[in-house]
Amino acid sequence: MTEGPARLLRGGEIAAEVRSGVAADVAAFRAEHGYVPELAVVIVGRDAPSTVYLHKILDGCRLVGIGGRLVELPEDADAERLDAELRALCRERTVAGVIVQQPLPARIPLRTVIDALDPARDIDGIHPLNAGLLALGYEGFLPATAHAAVQLLLRSGIAVRGKRAVVIGRSNVVGKPAALLLLREGATVTICHTGTADLAAEVRRAEIVVVAAGHPGLVTGAMVAPGAVIVDVGINVVDGRIVGDVDAEGVVAVAGALAPVPGGVGPLTNAILLTHLMRAARNLAEGRRDAGTASLHPVPAAGAGR
Ligand code: NAD
Repeated sequence: MTEGPARLLRGGEIAAEVRSGVAADVAAFRAEHGYVPELAVVIVGRDAPSTVYLHKILDGCRLVGIGGRLVELPEDADAERLDAELRALCRERTVAGVIVQQPLPARIPLRTVIDALDPARDIDGIHPLNAGLLALGYEGFLPATAHAAVQLLLRSGIAVRGKRAVVIGRSNVVGKPAALLLLREGATVTICHTGTADLAAEVRRAEIVVVAAGHPGLVTGAMVAPGAVIVDVGINVVDGRIVGDVDAEGVVAVAGALAPVPGGVGPLTNAILLTHLMRAARNLAEGRRDAGTASLHPVPAAGAGR
């Protein structure tokens, strides 16, 4: 097994470019419409582990001039309280995007969010309308992490069309949307998961591997084909350090490129989310109220899109 050492695909520089585009867009929007769009981040309970991630989103808003609003509901808030809060936020003219901390406390079903969240403000693509649009090949709001993973490939000049791609993970937030986006870009896609009989064999055949399993060290150098492109999306804490799902040392020696953790997809995710926010803001300000019905035309896919 030769090839390697892998080129590292770092998201930071691309994220800075994306953010500067968003900052210009925010300034133009403000001049045109007379207000600054806002992103509301809703948290139930103070000490949730995802709080750090949500604060990073708010920091990202500040960098580009978007209004970031943290909405903290008390630890014991119930489904009715969250429902009322989300409906109120979705009635505010300036609130163009709403993100809700996940996972929710066990007593609040995800259904509460889906019923109350305006799909036109669902900038992280969790609503079934947006998920359905993606599945059918129309332009809805995409889950930001999956979108960032595929954008990192494309903006790094890595061809996707015609490639054999393996996605490890089938969640609604990362694995499935990443697979659908790779399919849209013309890859031949296999989705692997906990039921996959021989993960190593599937990975070995792949020219592109996107891994989002939440399992440190899952993808090793011995599993990947020489020259393959590996995108690590996993986020795990091991001995107080953030690591991905890839044994980076082993994989770098064999692969052609690696998007590492930290420093790969992560930095791009927030910047991509802000582009979604500005798209929502424009749709709303220009009267295209519903993300779905506004965009029932097929996305121009790489190739014929069929
Ligand atoms: P999840 O737990 O909902 O899904 C994990 C998926 O991986 C499942 O579909 C499961 O079938 C598969 N899987 C787990 N272990 C496996 C194994 N041994 N072999 C094959 N498949 C296996 O997690 P998620 O929400 O999709 O997140 C996945 C990872 O991505 C997590 O580490 C999470 O922290 C990370 N993540 C990163 C970002 C980011 O911005 N970079 C955002 C969201 C999630």
